[in-house]
Amino acid sequence: MTQPSTVSARLAQVQERIEALTRAAGRPAGSVTLLPVSKTFGTDAVQQAMAAGMRRFGENKAQDIRDKSRELADGGAQWVMIGHLQTNKARDIARYAHEIQSLDRPELAEALERRLQQEGRSLDALVQVKTSTEPSKFGLDPAGLEDFLSFLARETPSLRVQGLMTMAVNAPDRDAVRACFRRLRELRDAMQAKAIPGIGLERLSMGMSGDYDLAIAEGSTEVRIGSAIFGDRSYTSV
Ligand SMILES: *Cc1c(COP(=O)(O)O)cnc(C)c1O
Repeated sequence: MTQPSTVSARLAQVQERIEALTRAAGRPAGSVTLLPVSKTFGTDAVQQAMAAGMRRFGENKAQDIRDKSRELADGGAQWVMIGHLQTNKARDIARYAHEIQSLDRPELAEALERRLQQEGRSLDALVQVKTSTEPSKFGLDPAGLEDFLSFLARETPSLRVQGLMTMAVNAPDRDAVRACFRRLRELRDAMQAKAIPGIGLERLSMGMSGDYDLAIAEGSTEVRIGSAIFGDRSYTSV
């Protein structure tokens, strides 16, 4: 597919493809949300996406959420943390983020709860689950998911759990990628059957620029798209 040259044109192209994939999967129109991932891009790129109607943006560093939310203070953007979060950065997320999708361990949940209570805020949250065996990937071991959800239900009233998030294996094998997405959906279904009070599991955040077709086919309700909207990232500049 040819890449148009502006953020708004690429956004429109991605949105059209999401709609087509949703239809092809036999799913209701509008059942897959787009989360643009603005990590490594400046607030100018974010503003272009906002002009095209986007409000929520994914970032993978607490410091970038802090800096960008300050820079765009009156713009109405909502920041979604999607990267690994150290507990000593919990305050920035409690203060500046609207949501975290990389909640993956009790110590982090406790640190966020403490900071959220201090700030008088609450956060939408997705639990990040590790569905691949790659050593570099963060996320909770699926075997600990039920215990973790029960812990969140008991201990962290300021975190509103709404579903699960995963990153698929980073490999050319499309079947292996798709298996990660299927795994997340099956885990969600199994947890939903447990009906843990206070824990919502409607949302499945899965799919990135290179694999969101497979994720939508497996039931994704939210795709996190960076490079297909904002262009290639140059990590040397951050
Ligand atoms: C960077 C990132 C994305 C987006 O990746 P692209 O390949 O640029 O679409 C999605 N999810 C997470 C957790 C990321 O870190």
